[in-house]
Amino acid sequence: MPPRSGCSGRAGRRRISGIVVRVVEMKTQTRKRVGILGATGLVGQRVIHMLRDHPQFEVTALAASDRSEGRTFVDACNWKLPFDMPEAVKGMILGPCAPPLDCDLVIASLPSDKAVESEAAFAAAGYPVISNSSAYRMHPDVPLVVPEINPDHLDLIPVQKRLRGYDRGYMVTNPNCTTIALVLALAPLDRAFGLEAVMVTSMQAVTGAGYPGVASIDIIDNVMPYIGGEEEKVETEPQKILGRLTGEVIEDAPFKVSAQCNRVPVQDGHLESVRVKLRRAASPEEVVDALQSFRGLPQELRLYSAPERPVVVRFEKDRPQPRLDRDAENGMATVVGRIARDTVLDYKLTLIGHNTIRGAAGAALLNAELLLARNLI
Ligand code: NAP
Repeated sequence: MPPRSGCSGRAGRRRISGIVVRVVEMKTQTRKRVGILGATGLVGQRVIHMLRDHPQFEVTALAASDRSEGRTFVDACNWKLPFDMPEAVKGMILGPCAPPLDCDLVIASLPSDKAVESEAAFAAAGYPVISNSSAYRMHPDVPLVVPEINPDHLDLIPVQKRLRGYDRGYMVTNPNCTTIALVLALAPLDRAFGLEAVMVTSMQAVTGAGYPGVASIDIIDNVMPYIGGEEEKVETEPQKILGRLTGEVIEDAPFKVSAQCNRVPVQDGHLESVRVKLRRAASPEEVVDALQSFRGLPQELRLYSAPERPVVVRFEKDRPQPRLDRDAENGMATVVGRIARDTVLDYKLTLIGHNTIRGAAGAALLNAELLLARNLI
């Protein structure tokens, strides 16, 4: 069944942070039906887990490759999360990653080469597509959204619909998993002091490569100093996210990012060593305050998956660490520590984000919640 329009439940309009949103009472709302593309993958599994008790969304369709098509989810999926597979999805039959699917929107977690064709086909068929892949992230008419930072970029949706000839469907993307952890810390610094330059060295978990991902023989007792395409993404996505939507165009934020990305033998959580050059002088106390006090529209709207604190600052000399800090705020926060003046640029810090939660599934879900609040689903 194709997407249905409208939404039941009591609703009103409110203006928050300059954006008119429709506020829906969650309890009385009919849940929107979600189709998950790439449902059997590491990110798809996280999406399923995060949607298990969601008040606004329910999983009604699952899709994966032709290796899985026609099989039940429990049979086809190599479930990797340390929680039981939700009963509701076990018997669902996996469909192909092509419309129609029995849902009102799709959350897509496909390899980017497959996503190019599949995501555009769903958008053209009238479905809102919320994507984790890099396929359309940098297209000028496709919003690349972190709800705390640039919710106004959703105003590109009508532009995209017009340019691509879509009727009701559209595509909205979330960033690369290393980028999103980084930009959640950069945004408050950019707002408060302006950013001139960023240097980042990442130590990225093996789950970032999907399943089965990196061969064990390559990563045990080792560090891989190369992740294909990753440095280019981290060096270009932040400027689009922190850029300004003027008319129908996003003007990139005017700072440069230099990235070196490494794969390390950690299961979940990307750690990043960051140095920043600021446009205005700031004391260490001001830097800490800017990070700690950072809030955005998801916190104002109290979106269901929104972390109370999108940036958590730790003051112990040996934090953050992947095992101890990746699950902060249910995996939806960037945890920052080791904030200090730098001898070459202005400040240095270390941060971590959970790559499959805030770095993928949780980012997509928060975008879906924001789109629903804006009456775009
Ligand atoms: P994954 O574990 O390898 O899962 C890939 C999924 O895509 C599986 O469901 C697979 O189905 C399906 N698939 C593969 N080839 C397909 C094809 N030709 N047609 C249809 N479906 C196909 O990968 P992942 O880690 O979940 O990543 C999914 C996407 O999210 C990628 O674009 C990735 O870059 C992005 N992402 C990942 C992370 C992360 O931390 N892992 C973070 C941010 C973004 P079968 O089981 O049937 O093969």
